[in-house]
Amino acid sequence: MDTLLELQNVTHVYVGDQGASMAVENISLSIGRGEFVSLVGPSGCGKTTVLSLLAGLLFPTKGAVLAGGEPVVRPSSKVGYMLQQDFLFPWRTILDNAAIGLTLSGRRNAASLGAVRELLAELGLAGTEAKMPYELSGGMRQRVALARTLATEPDVLLLDEPFSALDMHIKLQLEDLVHATLAARGKTAVLVTHDLAEAAAMSDRIVVLDPNPGRIRAIFVIPDAVRSLPPTEARKLPEFQRVFDALWEALEQGEQAGGEGS
Ligand code: ADP
Ligand code: MG
Repeated sequence: MDTLLELQNVTHVYVGDQGASMAVENISLSIGRGEFVSLVGPSGCGKTTVLSLLAGLLFPTKGAVLAGGEPVVRPSSKVGYMLQQDFLFPWRTILDNAAIGLTLSGRRNAASLGAVRELLAELGLAGTEAKMPYELSGGMRQRVALARTLATEPDVLLLDEPFSALDMHIKLQLEDLVHATLAARGKTAVLVTHDLAEAAAMSDRIVVLDPNPGRIRAIFVIPDAVRSLPPTEARKLPEFQRVFDALWEALEQGEQAGGEGS
C-alpha cells in the first residue's frame, strides 16, 4: 500500500481554562493513497480531533502526523475539508461559491472557472451557476460544497458528517455521488459519520474509536464485494449486513467497557 497519511502514536490534549483533557490517545493509523477510510464511534470520541490533526489545524501533543511522508505543519491546499453545514456564502452565486478556493488562492481564471462549471455539471448542478444558495435545496447545496472542495484539486478529502443533515433519500443519492466522484479521481478520503450503514457502504476500511480518551477499538476491512459496488447497491448484499452487525457489536462492547469505567 502506498501510504499517503499517517498517524504515529498520536495523543492530543486540549488545554483550556478548565484544565487539560486528553481527546485522543496513542492513535496509530496508515491510510493508503486512494483509500476511503471511515471513523465511527460515540460522540466525543475524538473523530473531529483526528480530522483536524490530519488537516494541520491542530498539532499532536505526542506522536506524529505525516502526509506524503512529511510532518503536517500547516493546512495545505492538498487537503480539502467538507462539513455537515455547507457554509456557502449567501451573497455569492453558486459558481462564485464553488470557485471560492480558486479565488482565495489566486488561481481563478477562465480555464479554472471552466473546470468548475464542468464539475458542477458532473454533480448534477448544470444551470445553477448564476443562482444564489437560498434557491437550492439542502442536497444541492451540499453538492455545491463538494464542488467547492474538489475545485482546488486536493489529494485528500476530509469529510466530517457531510450527509447527516440531509433527508434519507437525498443522503443515499449523495453517498453514491461522492463515492463515484472520489473513486473516479483516485482521491483519498477520511469520513467521520455516526451512521454505521453509511460507513459500511462507502468505505474500504472502518476505524471504530472508543471514547475518553479516544482510542482505536477495532479496524474493519470491508470485503471486496461490498467495496466494489455503489453504496446503494452494496447495502443489498448479505456481506454488507455482516459488516454492519460486526460494527454494531464493536460499538456495543465499547460502551460496556466504558460503563465499567475502564
Ligand atoms: P467527536 O468528533 O468524536 O464527537 P471531538 O474530536 O469533537 O469528538 O472531541 C473529542 C473530545 O475532545 C471531547 O471530549 C471534546 O469535549 C473534547 N474537545 C473537542 N474540542 C475541544 C476544544 N476545542 N477544547 C477542549 N476540549 C475539546
Ligand atoms: Mg465531531
